[in-house]
Amino acid sequence: MNSPVILITGAGKGIGKAVVEEIVKRKAEMGNPKLMLTSRTLSDLENLQAKVQDAGLTCDILPLDLANEPSKAIVHTIQKFGRLDQLIHSAGVGRFGEFLELTHEDLQFTMKTNVEAAFLLMQSAYAQMKNQKVTSTKLKSHHGDIVFITSVAAEKPFEHSSIYCMSKYAQRGLIDVMRRYGRKDGIRIIDVKPGAVLTPMWGENATPDLVPKMMMPEDIAQLIVGALLTHPRASVEEILVRPIAGDL
Ligand code: NAP
Repeated sequence: MNSPVILITGAGKGIGKAVVEEIVKRKAEMGNPKLMLTSRTLSDLENLQAKVQDAGLTCDILPLDLANEPSKAIVHTIQKFGRLDQLIHSAGVGRFGEFLELTHEDLQFTMKTNVEAAFLLMQSAYAQMKNQKVTSTKLKSHHGDIVFITSVAAEKPFEHSSIYCMSKYAQRGLIDVMRRYGRKDGIRIIDVKPGAVLTPMWGENATPDLVPKMMMPEDIAQLIVGALLTHPRASVEEILVRPIAGDL
């Protein structure tokens, strides 16, 4: 197989960054992929690109706000590498607070990235994968993989998370629909639903009493890479993973 092309959104921090690091660790098993990394902060991407290139992998970066240019990452990946084999969509935002205190701006900000951009990104990635020539030597009907990091909040309500839960339930709706298409078109749609993971998303909410109870980004990254490495005749459709003591 030629080197697969993998696009990772939200690659600069947290779970997305850990996925890039895990891919680098397992680069031979992953087929020495070409990586396209995107998020908003250029310095995060430059630092990670240097590490990926030091490990001998081809890597390009694209700083962008998905909320404004949701499909640009796909277009850029195709321009640069000619195809897209795997999309790992980790970019996401969270605004948390008492229901009566959340604002219209909180709602619009969250929906723009978590729902609108997620839909348009899924649509562009899916179109590309469906129409491109299969290069997999393992299964000639395998067109690609799309991994979305949703959340346990995509299926379980949490107080202080009305907008976040709404956006994640919406992602789950999209994924469940797309899986019906994906089964016919040879595209694995993988829904990753973590509980609390210690990442910059938590900011000051990661208080010293909570930190020891949280998972680490590499825990999630290992599961994602494991799912991608599963033989393409099998699809790990959902990964639900919580801290050992349950949700916070
Ligand atoms: P994080 O540490 O805040 O990292 C998020 C990454 O996404 C950052 O690189 C950020 O870029 C990028 N990003 C956010 N909005 C973007 C936008 N509009 N355009 C482009 N890039 C954008 O978050 P995380 O904890 O790794 O979360 C990753 C995903 O997992 C999210 O979808 C989150 O909802 C989900 N999740 C997280 C947890 C948790 O406990 N941490 C649990 C379940 C699910 P910049 O930093 O440059 O802005």
